[in-house]
Amino acid sequence: MAKKSYYITTFGCQMNVSDSERIASMLSSLDYVPASNLEDADLALVNMCSVRQTAVDRVHGLAKKFREIREKNKKFTAILTGCVLKKDSQKLCKIFDYVIDVREIKDLAKFLGSKSFDSIDHYLQIAPAHQSKFSANVPIMTGCNNFCTYCVVPYTRNRETSRPAKEIVAEITKLVKKGYKEIWLLGQNVNSYHGLILSKKGWTSFSELLEMIEEIPGEFWVRFTSSHPKDFNEKVIKTTASCKKVTPYLNLPVQSGDNAILKKMNRRYKVSDYKALIKKARKEIPNLCLSTDIIVGFPGETQKQFENTAKLFREVGYDMAYINKYSPRPGTAAEKLNDNVSKEEKKNREKILTEILKETALENNKKIVGKETVVLIDSKTNDGWLGKNDQYKTVKIKSNGQKKDLVGKFVNVKITKAMEWALEGEIK
Ligand code: SF4
Repeated sequence: MAKKSYYITTFGCQMNVSDSERIASMLSSLDYVPASNLEDADLALVNMCSVRQTAVDRVHGLAKKFREIREKNKKFTAILTGCVLKKDSQKLCKIFDYVIDVREIKDLAKFLGSKSFDSIDHYLQIAPAHQSKFSANVPIMTGCNNFCTYCVVPYTRNRETSRPAKEIVAEITKLVKKGYKEIWLLGQNVNSYHGLILSKKGWTSFSELLEMIEEIPGEFWVRFTSSHPKDFNEKVIKTTASCKKVTPYLNLPVQSGDNAILKKMNRRYKVSDYKALIKKARKEIPNLCLSTDIIVGFPGETQKQFENTAKLFREVGYDMAYINKYSPRPGTAAEKLNDNVSKEEKKNREKILTEILKETALENNKKIVGKETVVLIDSKTNDGWLGKNDQYKTVKIKSNGQKKDLVGKFVNVKITKAMEWALEGEIK
């Protein structure tokens, strides 16, 4: 009998990508095989993101496609999981056979009428089917307790849960033995990691976890995301600086450069606190590459308040930034605020910040020209390779006749050219 096939559609962040890797592994243990496209699948699994309305609309947009597939394949099943708001779930129940909490993916057998395997306590214990052979996502915690007023995560992923440190260390040890070179520690707020050390019957903080991972033998890099400025402290800065495997890349979302807006967002730090953190981090980690997340056009954001953000942007001199135009999300506290900044103005503010970012990123990249950097190669291009250095900067490398397959390898590269969003270099 032919095996049943599945097709996973993933929306959203690295955490959702990581969850989909666990879903894929769970399905293969239930004897499902991957389908090359949705139309040919017996099971569609959609891993949803509710952070932006566009992703929610795309999930609603699947209704017609599912109807067509069901006409041809009466046994077709569609399951929705991921970050699903209760409000959306009521409507989406009409499109999907099941809408399940991401934590329930450990019980997928129950929904598919399959024989279940040994039960596990938490879905993060499922061994993931990693998409990459050299870079792996390792969730260390999930959920969030912060309730930023614009964000749905505490409602869709619930409160914070940290994985036991021993379990994380064991997973990374296995990955490194298999040859993985880049480990991304994931969580909505990694700095508030508070995991059990089973052997010592105690608790470990994020910086202690980094120190434990540093002890794992092998040549690999450790990166982490996401950090909240209220929990990113001096201890984590010092650990990042002293642990050789922890790379000098930090994404520290500031969201706004204005104190009144930060208060409205419930971010629980002031611009001065943020600047002090950056100063300390740059002092301890001299080659630090810094990125941030920003929301422009938050309800009530005046021109002056936006200018404070633009001022902070110039002062900090980011290498990268993820600039988002505010859009209200159902169920959040900010939904009740008057979304009074016009679409045009939001676009204009996004453009202004992008222009500043282009200048600061290029300025920072120019300082690296002539220097040597280690690059982990991601892919082959027509005339060379693409990779990321320890600072998470994209590096384009000319092949210069090199024929060896370098994908997934560390190489020493001399930087020859700086651009806004990338560097160019030659293998040393
Ligand atoms: S810290 Fe704020 S923005 Fe980040 S996941 Fe939690 S509530 Fe959302």
